[in-house]
Amino acid sequence: MSPRLVHTAEEYAVALAAHEGAGHETYRADDIPARLMGRGCRTHGVEIQIPIAEFKATGDLAAFQAATKRARQTSAC
Ligand SMILES: [Zn+2]
Repeated sequence: MSPRLVHTAEEYAVALAAHEGAGHETYRADDIPARLMGRGCRTHGVEIQIPIAEFKATGDLAAFQAATKRARQTSAC
């Protein structure tokens, strides 16, 4: 499987929010030598990665958390 590479903290948050909760078997998919962090979902056969430098440059954890919160609200029933 080839990981999907994203380039902003927000894009990363939205991609991960789609694979959280019951029914998604997720795992860390970091590639430390390549300076990438990521997560995968075994249930759906996907891996999402972001260069750590781009994550930090596009808002870091604050932007990630805000986007995660928005994505959860949008996908809530
Ligand atoms: Zn999934």
